[in-house]
Amino acid sequence: MPKLHLITYGCQMNEYDSERVAGLLKHERYELTDSPEDADLILLNTCAIREKAEDKVYSELGTLKRLKARRPELLIGVMGCMAQLRQGAIQARAPQVDLVFGSPAIARVGELVARARSERRGVLETGEGPLVKITAKPDGASRLKAFVTVMEGCEKHCTFCVVPTTRGRERSHTPAAIVAEITGLAAQGCREVTLLGQTVNAYGRDLDPPTDLAALLERVDAIDGIARIRFTTSNPYNLTSRLIRAIRDVPKVVEYLHLPLQSGSDRILERMNRGYTVARYLELIAELKETVPDLALSTDLIVGFPGETEDDFARTVEAVEEVGYDNVFAFRYSRRPGTPAAEMADQVPEAVKAERNTRVLAAAVRVGAARSGRLVGREMEILVDGASRKDATQASGRTRCNRVVNFDAAGRDLTGEIAHVRITEALPHSLRGELVPRSADRLAAVGSSA
Ligand code: SAM
Repeated sequence: MPKLHLITYGCQMNEYDSERVAGLLKHERYELTDSPEDADLILLNTCAIREKAEDKVYSELGTLKRLKARRPELLIGVMGCMAQLRQGAIQARAPQVDLVFGSPAIARVGELVARARSERRGVLETGEGPLVKITAKPDGASRLKAFVTVMEGCEKHCTFCVVPTTRGRERSHTPAAIVAEITGLAAQGCREVTLLGQTVNAYGRDLDPPTDLAALLERVDAIDGIARIRFTTSNPYNLTSRLIRAIRDVPKVVEYLHLPLQSGSDRILERMNRGYTVARYLELIAELKETVPDLALSTDLIVGFPGETEDDFARTVEAVEEVGYDNVFAFRYSRRPGTPAAEMADQVPEAVKAERNTRVLAAAVRVGAARSGRLVGREMEILVDGASRKDATQASGRTRCNRVVNFDAAGRDLTGEIAHVRITEALPHSLRGELVPRSADRLAAVGSSA
């Protein structure tokens, strides 16, 4: 059987796409291998969101060039966002690449690989394609947690971002297709799904009849076996009171929301074309906290966007403190080809970006520690992932608010179960806890001691 080695960069959507590709190629009799040396086909599923992501791919292609020199029959393919953005430029710079294709062509990966093998000249496929829900998976892919892409593309046109170019128009999968996919995952033991979309809270408005994410969450909630539902990424511009109420009211939807702010300065938000002000964002945060008091919040921030002054940056730090995020992802602005911000005159020096990045992360760590500290003493539901990576005698899992908790499971394998754990200590990257006997156990103990 021919062997496939897959290297995945970037976001959760890429992880999802890679699994689909492995599943489709399984039908072409390819089996997965962890070793590039053993592979007949190596596919790099790429990211183009920042320059660094592209640098990593070219560096890997350099390594693979040496492998191909030894084994000329090896096929190398580049797929995903960088393929869509750079197209023919990839093979021009890295002629060892046999195949380049974007995400719309994933459904045809089998045919494209066969073409690359028979034609023995660079195959390039980066056109638009019909929206297809692919549910193929490689062997052994069943797991407790799964990503499910519910919509493709993005039409937001933030001035810094390549996603509208790399992932095309916004298109939602039908609720029926999504429910069928998740029902299948649940039948294989999946307990938690994360619904994915670039602007996931714009889900369904392009469907006929239109629907929305709140309605989809209710449909997914009804699927037996699924214990938790997450969704990402939400855009503040599309956040509705109806969705906020769904976070409170739909039982399996967790109390966690990732809501990118990007900047705490109105001037910068406008230059980014984000479509909201800081005041509007904070209004949403107030509504979220009032409706879902235990909600954990995380965000994305960009530091050093063109024209960002020290004062603009100080407002971003202020916003981090005011919101009280559980987690912050801070990125140094990266100039992306074809985006309006790349052409803006007042680019910020790299050293300033690096220094601001360090400062905002220090604020985020402070705020995050205070947020996790408040959990000490509380009893929480933990979805158990298995043994802790650092200490096999400990079980490890996550709270509904997405914190890692390690605890002594008293020798029981609770993998896949919801355990009740009292939090005893907050560490920088995780929590420690102790198993609380389930009420049935407690009742039995009371009965036997009476
Ligand atoms: N679609 C989502 C949104 O707009 O909120 C997020 C998508 S993007 C994959 C994840 C994050 O990468 C963004 O929220 C942003 O903070 C960051 N990002 C995007 N373009 C960037 C750039 N040119 N430089 C630095 N960070 C960038």
